[in-house]
Amino acid sequence: MTNASTADTIVARATPAGRGGVAIIRISGSGVTAIATAMLTKLPHPRLAEFMEFKDGSDTAIDTGLALYFPAPHSYTGEDVLELHSHGSPVICDMLVERSCDLGARLAEPGEFSQRAFLNDKMDLTQAEAVADLIDSASRTAARAATRSLQGDFATLVHQLNDRITELRVHVEAAIDFPEEEIDFLSDKALHARLDNVTQEFSRVEQTVQQGCLLRDGATVVIVGRPNAGKSLLLNALAGYDAAIVTAIEGTTRDLVREQIDLQGLPVRIIDTAGLRESTDEVEVEGIRRAQHALESADHALVVVDAVTITAAQQGKLLQELPADLSYTVVRNKLDLSDDVPGLAPDSARAPRATLAISALTGAGVDDLRDHLLERLGYVANDGAVTARRRHLQSLAKAQQHFVEARRLLIEASAGELMADELLQVQNALAEITGQFSSDDLLGEIFSSFCIGK
Ligand code: GDP
Repeated sequence: MTNASTADTIVARATPAGRGGVAIIRISGSGVTAIATAMLTKLPHPRLAEFMEFKDGSDTAIDTGLALYFPAPHSYTGEDVLELHSHGSPVICDMLVERSCDLGARLAEPGEFSQRAFLNDKMDLTQAEAVADLIDSASRTAARAATRSLQGDFATLVHQLNDRITELRVHVEAAIDFPEEEIDFLSDKALHARLDNVTQEFSRVEQTVQQGCLLRDGATVVIVGRPNAGKSLLLNALAGYDAAIVTAIEGTTRDLVREQIDLQGLPVRIIDTAGLRESTDEVEVEGIRRAQHALESADHALVVVDAVTITAAQQGKLLQELPADLSYTVVRNKLDLSDDVPGLAPDSARAPRATLAISALTGAGVDDLRDHLLERLGYVANDGAVTARRRHLQSLAKAQQHFVEARRLLIEASAGELMADELLQVQNALAEITGQFSSDDLLGEIFSSFCIGK
């Protein structure tokens, strides 16, 4: 977002940069009617696509195409909006944007269209964020979840929770208003049952938001291991197609191969590394440096070993190189050549970690590995998933803390008034999620991460 005036008329290309069949220039604000009249000679009929000439200052056509006019408030931003569907040439787009600016518009800042939609109550903050999430979604499941958030499913969850808190406040404030009965009111069984319900509802929403964050952000999994262990082949097996070059010559994978795969809807970035062995080759040293870096920000590591040749000492050395707090799975590969048993074997020495035997070549055990990975990443496939962000989790945690405190005040101190204050704090924290109670700084942070034209 910007501190730029919302009174300005803004213009931006709504379609991505580059060439294409059609490009869309979007103009929003009070200057739209004047700009349309000057550029198109007349205002198009509301909400009807009209084939028109888009003219420059000397009345020459810059291009011809469809013009669409959405009078306020029935538009994306809630303001007058004009869309020009031109031929998808960057030169034409530039000329149309320039012409709009000559006629009084200015270039839109990142996210400014969505920001105006939010400010004009066309959508709440979770929906505006869902627009960005939908555009950036990395799997079909993530896209569907973003659509649900955009349609308001996530906001509804927050509103429902908020309604429960309102009911509690009504109850508690009624008690405060009738002091002689306050103690009775506050020790009322129904009130305690309500508190228990809200506690459960908080956990449900928290879980939904956690899954929503995971779906939106995806997870990063690093594949490490000695050369020729079968890391590249495993990457291909997980991806379902040839993503990495597989050869029997050591050190093939010199750079990181980043593949985005879809694990039951969860977007997972798989990073195949150059292996962590020491090397004097300059290119390979760089690969190893990058592998170490990738490891530091990963969610999980797959340590791939050749089950036929690996020694306990070699495996121990590989594990030692992993960051201490990174969860990992030892994948004993080449099951087809060894007498390992497929599937999971608990690793007693390091309880939460596991060893899994697979053959990247035949695919044996690869499905088990996928399931295991999803479990380790904490993802549960869910048909009704929504997308969410870390900031939602933070606000929810804040709301939860105030709720726990409200409950404590009731149970330990029968302090109705203090409890009512805490409940108000709960609602303020929930309102941060939907944007009913948000600072300009927060809004700025959110909308500036959008790209221009959104
Ligand atoms: P990387 O260096 O760890 O990436 O290893 P690659 O994936 O390039 O594999 C090295 C060699 O091992 C290739 O010749 C693969 O065909 C072979 N290989 C990998 N996985 C398996 C497996 O599960 N079974 C068998 N038999 N060969 C494998």
